[in-house]
Amino acid sequence: MIEWNIQSRAHACQACRKPFANKELFHTLLFDHKHTYERLDICENCWTTQYSQATDRKGFISCWQSVYTVPPAAPPDPIQKETAESLLRKLIEQNDPGHAAARFILAVMLERKRLLKVKAQLLENQQRIFVYEHVGTGDLFQIPDPNLKLDKLEEVQREVGRLLEHGAHPTEPTASRTDAQKEITSATAETENKADGSQSAEEPNPVTPSSAI
Ligand SMILES: [Zn+2]
Repeated sequence: MIEWNIQSRAHACQACRKPFANKELFHTLLFDHKHTYERLDICENCWTTQYSQATDRKGFISCWQSVYTVPPAAPPDPIQKETAESLLRKLIEQNDPGHAAARFILAVMLERKRLLKVKAQLLENQQRIFVYEHVGTGDLFQIPDPNLKLDKLEEVQREVGRLLEHGAHPTEPTASRTDAQKEITSATAETENKADGSQSAEEPNPVTPSSAI
């Protein structure tokens, strides 16, 4: 398993160092460099002059085009309720193997809310890995497919519900059914399709350079 937490979007071209302007088009390239993934955010000019043939370079995985937007100011209230997104970020940073299924369920929930989009699928030691991009910030998340079995789904749903209510610190599970848990149940309906390997209309297709726009 390649170590990779969250790869943030650059605020300047990583070739010429020119800061991205608001609404500027740029290109993201993803390379596999043996034990690490490298993300490169490149301005249109550097793409044209240096990187448009990068698909031929060693380790190339995928590339896509995005529009840079100036990140919003930090929310004024530092004490916020745990959301699916903040929880997913915490769990990725903690990188606890015991939370692999919870990370996957949260990513599927956020994909359904159109906050995350699958940009690439990798195969690593027979394990499928989804590369999700955050629609707002452009951050990349690497989410391994835990190959969830149907009889484990309910257990994972309860775990995610508990984490959403109480944060990423283990506490006693609660018996009450919350809105968050209802949301998880609907999100996992899609996961069942993924888990049993069948194709659904919403299942992300493998991204190839020509379609990755
Ligand atoms: Zn540049």
